[in-house]
Amino acid sequence: MSPRAPTLASAPDDRAGALLTIDLAAVVENWRRLKKQAPGTDVGAVVKADAYGLGMVQVAQALKAAGCVTFYVAHLDEAVALRAAVGATPRIVCMHGPAPGKTERDFAGFNVIPVLSSPQQIKAWRTFASTNDVLMESFVQVDTGMQRLGLTPAEFAAHMDDPDGFLGLHPLALMSHLACADTPAHPLNKQQLDRFFSALGTFRGRFPDARGSLANSAGLLLGPAWHFQFARPGIALYGSHPENPPADGKPRWPVVPVVRLLARILQVRRVDQAGPVGYGATVQAPDGAKLATVSMGYADGLLRSAGAGGHGLLDGLRVPILGRVSMDLTTFDVSAVAESAAQPGQFIEVIGTTHTVDDLAREAGTVGYEILTSLGSRYHRRYLPAPAAKP
Ligand SMILES: *Cc1c(COP(=O)(O)O)cnc(C)c1O
Repeated sequence: MSPRAPTLASAPDDRAGALLTIDLAAVVENWRRLKKQAPGTDVGAVVKADAYGLGMVQVAQALKAAGCVTFYVAHLDEAVALRAAVGATPRIVCMHGPAPGKTERDFAGFNVIPVLSSPQQIKAWRTFASTNDVLMESFVQVDTGMQRLGLTPAEFAAHMDDPDGFLGLHPLALMSHLACADTPAHPLNKQQLDRFFSALGTFRGRFPDARGSLANSAGLLLGPAWHFQFARPGIALYGSHPENPPADGKPRWPVVPVVRLLARILQVRRVDQAGPVGYGATVQAPDGAKLATVSMGYADGLLRSAGAGGHGLLDGLRVPILGRVSMDLTTFDVSAVAESAAQPGQFIEVIGTTHTVDDLAREAGTVGYEILTSLGSRYHRRYLPAPAAKP
């Protein structure tokens, strides 16, 4: 008798330590709101890093169905996987661009638009395009005040002065990236806008049809001057606020929450003798406290820094994390919760509509970006579908 591989008899929900629900209708709604903010701009979607941890394939397919035609990723491998998911039509822009002399052929093969950010990338792309008679569009990136990627002002000027500097390129857009868009009053926003505007004017002297691309999510909220023709929002699509809370107490840009994260209670105990909780014995549980330990830890993206000050929701009540977050386990103080609601098998909501990604980020001393991109792979994931696209 040949041994047969066993098959699982239990439901995935019953095995998983935590449940992650991703609302694709909310992603689509967030995209529509940004699009409404910038009529006349091609508002795309940044789906790098697996759509900020939420699933690039599912997110891109939902947004494509809603009418999004331009997607941005960081890596070529992301672009190749995305091409398989969305088919031949959508524009895919790869922000890290080619490894000079090495990956140009794959950009052409998968019809991925490279962002060219250095003299080396530009030169290698020119050589590739002319050797192979490739007439492909590209983005050219200039640095306007971030010292990260993009041609420096001097490099840009040198390329403009050299009649062959951009020879054989078919730049669809000139691009730059904002350093402080999440802080609307920061003076660098206007400086970067001015520098970009001037570079684009120069660039259009050579390429009259070149479009501009400057804004991320927060950039779209700075005002129409920042919109240009291609916008690259990411974080707002995923339900995290793109801008810091306004100092004047004005309401924030309305994002629809996308993520719900529920951690399963493995055990509940009544402390019968006051004592320390968790690794390092950093916190004392008082006599009589009721503690619930859930199946979620830093290996699942519940950051260790959430240990002091983080909390969840159980039966509508705030329950604080007690002691250190371990790799697979976290203990909450559920003393305030009714006996019937604090039972093994029930769930503590770690992220939801009242305790949001941004709330958890604040408690952990970080930003929504890091919370989302840290979400673990051990969750049972559920996707709530976006409604069918309107004809
Ligand atoms: C990640 C990224 C974006 C998206 O930014 P959000 O703040 O998430 O909207 C846009 N442009 C570039 C160059 C990026 O790296």
